[in-house]
Amino acid sequence: MKQNQTQNEPKIQRCKRCKKRARMEEVNLCPICYEKKCKEMEKEFEQSKQLFRKWYLKRDWLVLDTESTGGGREDEIIEIGITDATGTILFESLVKPSQPIPKRTTDIHGITDEMVQDAPAWSEIWPEVGSIIQGKTVLMYASDADIMMIRRTCKKYQLPLISYDPRCVMKMYKQLHRDERFVSLTRALGQKEIEYTPSHRATSDCEGLRLLVLSIGGQLVEEEAQV
Ligand SMILES: [Zn+2]
Repeated sequence: MKQNQTQNEPKIQRCKRCKKRARMEEVNLCPICYEKKCKEMEKEFEQSKQLFRKWYLKRDWLVLDTESTGGGREDEIIEIGITDATGTILFESLVKPSQPIPKRTTDIHGITDEMVQDAPAWSEIWPEVGSIIQGKTVLMYASDADIMMIRRTCKKYQLPLISYDPRCVMKMYKQLHRDERFVSLTRALGQKEIEYTPSHRATSDCEGLRLLVLSIGGQLVEEEAQV
């Protein structure tokens, strides 16, 4: 009987955040840190709602996606696509890397060495790409990867970086749903019942992202109007 009682009590553990020992609330946080986390999530939820609404109402943003040889230090961009908020393709090109494309990444996007053989190098397209995105709000799905690849590929060819305002829709989507984990673009589209399957090629992924943003934004604007 006594043993049963102790089993039902919350365990004393080390808090994931403040490292103090306490009775844990959910997700290995002490009551104080748990409350803080809830407040943060609420704030992030409001921020993401505001952004999706803004993106729906003011369509002055671009969508960008890249495909690459991989996610490592020496990897390079092999395709880039940029569209505007109406879905018009502003730029689309395969890019010839200075290294072979590993099979494991070809399996994802389907881009082969043969396909990029006659494509321009990054150094040839960067001036145009840079001039399109300079000073613009640029939406991406998992922007960290694209931003890093742009930076690395520019560094590889000793090209100047430009300034733009990158926004990660994957992060905003997570905040909007108070999710613990990120979901893929394909999964997000499925969750929102948008009938579009991005092909993991640059402009196709751009279109999927654009449809996702406008669908979510449109719904939020509509909800707000009803209140
Ligand atoms: Zn704590």
